[in-house]
Amino acid sequence: MSIISKDIQKAVQLLTDEQLVAIPTETVYGLAGNIFSEKAIKSIFSTKKRPFFNPLIVHIPTIDSLEDIVTHIPEKAKLLADAFWPGSMTLVLKKSDKIPDLITAGKDTVAVRVPNHPVTLELLKQLPFPLAAPSANPFGSISPTKPTHVERYFKDNIQMVLDGGSCSNGIESTIIGFENDEPIIYRLGALAL
Ligand code: AMP
Ligand code: MG
Repeated sequence: MSIISKDIQKAVQLLTDEQLVAIPTETVYGLAGNIFSEKAIKSIFSTKKRPFFNPLIVHIPTIDSLEDIVTHIPEKAKLLADAFWPGSMTLVLKKSDKIPDLITAGKDTVAVRVPNHPVTLELLKQLPFPLAAPSANPFGSISPTKPTHVERYFKDNIQMVLDGGSCSNGIESTIIGFENDEPIIYRLGALAL
C-alpha cells in the first residue's frame, strides 16, 4: 500500500473515532471533523477558539452527496456546481434536518462544497459522512497553506495532519447564496484562480 493510502486510512480511522484531522484542500488546510459528531464539531470550535455564531462549511465528495444534506437545489446552483465542482466555490443552500444546528450556527441554510484536492477527495469518498472543515488556524490567525503551518498552530491539539503538499490557491473559497433561486455572491474568493 502506498504511503498516501496508509495516511488516508489512518485519517478515516481517526475521523470515525470523532477525532479531528487537518486536511489539504486547494484553498487552505482545513481542520476537519465528522459533521454528525457533536464531540468532533465542538472540538473544532474549541481548538480554533472560533465563536459558535460563525458557521462551518461542509465538504462532500460529489455533487450527488448534496441531496442528503439540502432540501432544495435551485437550477442555477446545479449549473454552478456542474461548472465549478470540484473547486473553490461554496454554495449556501436550504439545509435538511440531518444537518446539526451547531454546523450552521442555527441558520436554516448550510454552506457546502466539493474541494479540488485528490487526497481529500479520496478521503471523503471513503468516509460514510461529510466533513466540516474551517481553516486550520486559530480564530483570527492567517490560514495555513502547508502542513508545517498547521503543525506550528496545533501540534499539541490534533492527532494528524494529512499531508497533501502546498495548497495551490492559498485563498478561501468564493461563497454563493441564493435569494428566490437567484445567486448572490456572499464572499469573493479563489474561484477565478
Ligand atoms: P471558512 O471560515 O472559510 O470556513 O468559511 C466559513 C464562512 O462561510 C463563514 O464565516 C460564513 O461567512 C460562511 N457561511 C457558512 N455557512 C453559512 C450560511 N449558512 N450562510 C451564510 N454564510 C455561511
Ligand atoms: Mg478561516
